[in-house]
Amino acid sequence: MTGQPKGFHIGASYYPEHWPQERWERDLGAMTDLGFTAVRMLEFAWSRLEPRPGEYRFDWFDRAADLCETFGLSMMLGTPTAAPPVWLISAYPDILPVGPDGLRRQPGGRRHYCLHNERYRAAARGVVEQLANHLAGRTDIVAWQVDNEVGAYRSTFCYCDLCEAAFRRWLEARYHDVATLNQRWGTVFWSQEVRGWDEVQIPRPAMNGWTGSNKSALLDFWRFSSDALADFVGDQADALREWFPQVPVTTNWTSLTTAAFDREVMAKRIDFTSWDNYELDLYGASFNHDVVRGAKHGSQPTWTPEQRCAPPDNRQHVPLLREGEVTTMTLHNIACGSDATIYFRLEQALFGAENAHGGILDRSGGTDTRIYRELASSVPRLRQIGDAVAGSQVRARVAIVYDTTAGVAITSPLPHLVKKRSQLLSHLEHLVRPYHRALQSLGVDVDVIPCGRDLAHYDVVILAGQVIASGDLATSVRKYVAGGGCLVATPFTAHVDDNDNLVAAAVPAGLTDVFGLSVTDQDFLADGETVVLARPVGAGEAPVPDLQGVLCCDLLRLAGAEVKFEYRNRWYAGTPAIASHTYGRGTAMYVGTALDHVAVRSLLTEVLAERDVEWHDLPPDVHLRRRFGPGSGPPEVTEYVFVVNGGEVEQTVTLQGRYRDLLTGEELDGAIGVKARDAVVLCRALPR
Ligand SMILES: [Zn+2]
Repeated sequence: MTGQPKGFHIGASYYPEHWPQERWERDLGAMTDLGFTAVRMLEFAWSRLEPRPGEYRFDWFDRAADLCETFGLSMMLGTPTAAPPVWLISAYPDILPVGPDGLRRQPGGRRHYCLHNERYRAAARGVVEQLANHLAGRTDIVAWQVDNEVGAYRSTFCYCDLCEAAFRRWLEARYHDVATLNQRWGTVFWSQEVRGWDEVQIPRPAMNGWTGSNKSALLDFWRFSSDALADFVGDQADALREWFPQVPVTTNWTSLTTAAFDREVMAKRIDFTSWDNYELDLYGASFNHDVVRGAKHGSQPTWTPEQRCAPPDNRQHVPLLREGEVTTMTLHNIACGSDATIYFRLEQALFGAENAHGGILDRSGGTDTRIYRELASSVPRLRQIGDAVAGSQVRARVAIVYDTTAGVAITSPLPHLVKKRSQLLSHLEHLVRPYHRALQSLGVDVDVIPCGRDLAHYDVVILAGQVIASGDLATSVRKYVAGGGCLVATPFTAHVDDNDNLVAAAVPAGLTDVFGLSVTDQDFLADGETVVLARPVGAGEAPVPDLQGVLCCDLLRLAGAEVKFEYRNRWYAGTPAIASHTYGRGTAMYVGTALDHVAVRSLLTEVLAERDVEWHDLPPDVHLRRRFGPGSGPPEVTEYVFVVNGGEVEQTVTLQGRYRDLLTGEELDGAIGVKARDAVVLCRALPR
């Protein structure tokens, strides 16, 4: 691995193949005039890089790259494999993936390839190797991007015969013999036992979706598909490193809600993580930033290879960006640990599937646009801040354990009906994101990390719907709480084994002594129904508002835990809903229902205060984030504090301690005013 990218970069995506060469100089000049430092190019240009099989044409791109060098723009280059050219598909139509309905998907868009088609893999490898070989020696490439938005729109999954054969091989490597597979998958249920590997099928929607598929098979098919995608990305990354050992490789992930694969597994194959930011508010952006940063061990800076700067083509009801919004989103990216923001895109394409996606320049390449004027005014300031904090780290004291595989076991992204008892429950939306949003609204930095990481340095850990009772989970949680940690767990903690089979033990399986309780039953609420949680009568603690839960209620049998809240309005009114237990030197709290972020916020203020984690009563849409970098002397670190206001009115945030405004040098303490859609960046020296 080559390590992390260096420095701060700001720029735009540019597609020279979309424009006559006479225009390139003016376009790239506009970027330099804006103060941009980087340009992102080449993804999707396969038909121009290899117009016919094995006939490579790099001369046009050499001219564009040389011009970038002339204008002082560094390059982030994408491999073009997300858009297989027409000649490739015409020659080998079985490259096209097959959907769960058994029908082969058609070309005409992008990402239309099967990961197990060797013809596609060879052609992809060919164009990547030829491109890297040709460009080797260039010193102005600051990062490589593999493919584009891998896994988007369920493209992780293909149901073709090649994939089925590969799935069988993957299962054989995992289970060795079919007897083990039958046992681990519970295939005796509904006579699904197989006698040989050739009888194993990819799980497809059965009986028009009225019956559920085997859940173990679904989970393994998800893992198999995720592994294949990571392998595809890793292969390209390895090939690029042959020619560019010093240039770090990433792949630009899309929003978490639209792509399904195990991010930690893929992160091991690339040098740094990145994601394309099309979120509509800063809470959504924060969550993605924290997950993407958490996919790598340690707190490494990430990148934002695409940042929305105009209405996108593929969504409805996206309003025109308001004055200051792009600047604020960029500052928020930096605040969340992103050391590059590349806007999408410099120019609106005049043709093709996305020609309604706006750009920074007008349709004729002119600069008389509102967004250009905003960036012209703000880029110098963004660079000053980005340069100052680049390479510094987010150091969260709170973590959310969010494992995507657990999400699959609760609410499958695969199109197979019947997952668990509630069709309404979303792992991400009901068990994970309310906790993240609550912490954001309290100005508490948080890492979102996969299961199995060392938790010792966190003051508070939220176990968000970790339904798989793996050995890793039990070991890390037990060690963390015993050692003095504060754990908060949601419904669906430790119910099933690694194959999504129920564990024949009281739940949370293997952890009932840590929580001092077990879950005896689960009630599911209808859409719109709520449950009220209140302090037990006579609890004698500081009054807090009643909480409101939705969707599911765990009925709890206590064995040492202390009731914090009880259900108040259903037939089990008066029974425990939230309970806390001392285990070793720490505490484990179990929250028996899905809370919205307002209720979580209320609950967490107490938890954070007990652990001496500072929190702020932030106004809506105001975000407080911190990064830590080297200080001016060895015993010091520099703390950078970002107060980002994504809202429509000026706000004031009160901070303890003395700070210096990073840009003006003005000394500040107490109330910090932040204008609407703007940010203030402060810094101070702290002991290490
Ligand atoms: Zn396939």
